[in-house]
Amino acid sequence: MRNYDCIFLDRDGTLNYDTGYIADLSKFNFYPFTIPALIHMSKKGNKFCIITNQSGVDRGLIQIGKLDEIHEYIRHEFEKNEIVLLDIYVCPDHPNKASNRRKPGTGMFLEAAEQYNLSLNNCLMVGDSVDDMLVGMKLGMETMLVLTGRGKKSLSKLGANHKPTYVKKNISEGFEQLCL
Ligand SMILES: [Mg+2]
Repeated sequence: MRNYDCIFLDRDGTLNYDTGYIADLSKFNFYPFTIPALIHMSKKGNKFCIITNQSGVDRGLIQIGKLDEIHEYIRHEFEKNEIVLLDIYVCPDHPNKASNRRKPGTGMFLEAAEQYNLSLNNCLMVGDSVDDMLVGMKLGMETMLVLTGRGKKSLSKLGANHKPTYVKKNISEGFEQLCL
């Protein structure tokens, strides 16, 4: 299989159930297949970075401290399972006054590339939204649309000019395919 510099992961709808503006750790649940799939890819020598839009912060629906708690939990779960997580990048911007950090803006990816010396054209972006796919394409990454979360809707919105490299039922099936 191809070895990526880094596999970028969207969070909600990709790794965990997207119940909308998750404001408390008690509402955060990985899909049952997420951790095993990440372990599998990790054993093949891959490392990960989570890139997430969290406009709930700017909307006043999510407190930063609560968001940090969720991300501490994620870091801990990765570490416990020996999955290499470079970092978690968060954009709290409201879409109406978003900086270039908010996906499909490239800001968070450029930060990661600089901080961890990554060649983005040798990376993979995995996500369930149109914006995840668009930013991946913009940066010359391979893209994987997963059909969990908003994935099915996203697939119907993506035109013929924006075909993801892979379209897979979920992250587990996607990673299995990459390991063939
Ligand atoms: Mg998502």
